[in-house]
Amino acid sequence: MRESGVGGEPDIRLERVTKRFGDVLVIDDLDLEIERGAFYALLGPSGCGKTTTLRMIGGFELPTAGRVLLGGTEVTNAPPHKRDVNTVFQSYALFPHLTIEKNVAFGLERKGVGKAETRRRVAEALETVQLPHLAKRKPAQLSGGQQQRVALARALVNRPRALLLDEPLGALDLRLRRQLQLELKRIQQEVGITFIHVTHDQEEAMSMADTIAVMNRGRIEQAGTATDLYERPRTEFVAKFLGVSNLVRGTVGQANGELSAVTTHDGATLHAPTNRCAEHAGGAVSVGVRPEKVKLTPAEQPTPDGANVLRGQVVLSSFLGVSLQYVVRTAGGEELIVLAQNADGSLPESLGAGREVQLTWDPRHTFVVAAEDGARA
Ligand code: ATP
Repeated sequence: MRESGVGGEPDIRLERVTKRFGDVLVIDDLDLEIERGAFYALLGPSGCGKTTTLRMIGGFELPTAGRVLLGGTEVTNAPPHKRDVNTVFQSYALFPHLTIEKNVAFGLERKGVGKAETRRRVAEALETVQLPHLAKRKPAQLSGGQQQRVALARALVNRPRALLLDEPLGALDLRLRRQLQLELKRIQQEVGITFIHVTHDQEEAMSMADTIAVMNRGRIEQAGTATDLYERPRTEFVAKFLGVSNLVRGTVGQANGELSAVTTHDGATLHAPTNRCAEHAGGAVSVGVRPEKVKLTPAEQPTPDGANVLRGQVVLSSFLGVSLQYVVRTAGGEELIVLAQNADGSLPESLGAGREVQLTWDPRHTFVVAAEDGARA
């Protein structure tokens, strides 16, 4: 399967890349293309092969088969220092005895860049990561977040074609992590170079990346924008990895113009966009809808015309601050999650456990994926 980004010239390309460690197949015939200037996230669970993919781009690992191209030039077997990319690791790996500015200058000095030029570029890089005031300090005198920014400045100062980031925020606490996510995004937009970011945190990938490639067992299951993956997942794995997916088992039936009928396993009829159903005609599918797209109302109220309707009973309702979260058990025995908020942002009156309710949503928000054996939403 060929996966590509949002348009424009491919800057980094992996062609049919396979990687084995001994007998173990870790990357399985992977194709990917990343455009110049993109913020590209490799997202997936632990062990799916994200780091190995990144290390093959960086030259720290060589593919068993396939080709790696940077800017159209093959670098498959070139060592890291012969590639115009820099890697930022989770462990900052700063030199403890050198000041921050010397840490940042280190690579340029080794390359023989002149003193004045080095000073100018170091100052610029520290400015970009907003740390010029700490230039004379040693790493031990900086917080974890500040050290990570120094590591970033040290990579940026080389002006590489691409920056490879391997869980760079993984060691930070959640609040700092969220703050640095925004900062990384700002920096990437400012410097305009390609960032490839490895993470297992879907919120992190969604908040930063232009293109997200969801990896599973050494393959890319789907690549696209955050909106694409969230609203139009193509597999159960992607649907679940990107958030609550409220999957219900069913079979695709008749198409009627833009919408097709899907009969759920307990006999209810739902509708979904025909273009998402066509490839599954007659087959076993899971239909899903995101929790914030569903409206929950008491069972006795009328349902809107043309809406998908599932009936059920409230199992649990909880107050989340910005919304009310309901767990509802449907007649078919599935537990679905609904996030409720009024159109004006206020919270509706809470309906307690045991209450008979109906879940309604616009059929256009329904996604359809092939059913995976044994998997439940
Ligand atoms: P994590 O989020 O946990 O870092 P990941 O998606 O980055 O996971 P990789 O580090 O790429 O995953 O590892 C993929 C698989 O390859 C794992 O099963 C891992 O055990 C295996 N692996 C990685 N490096 C080696 C190695 N040098 N020798 C043998 N097996 C390896």
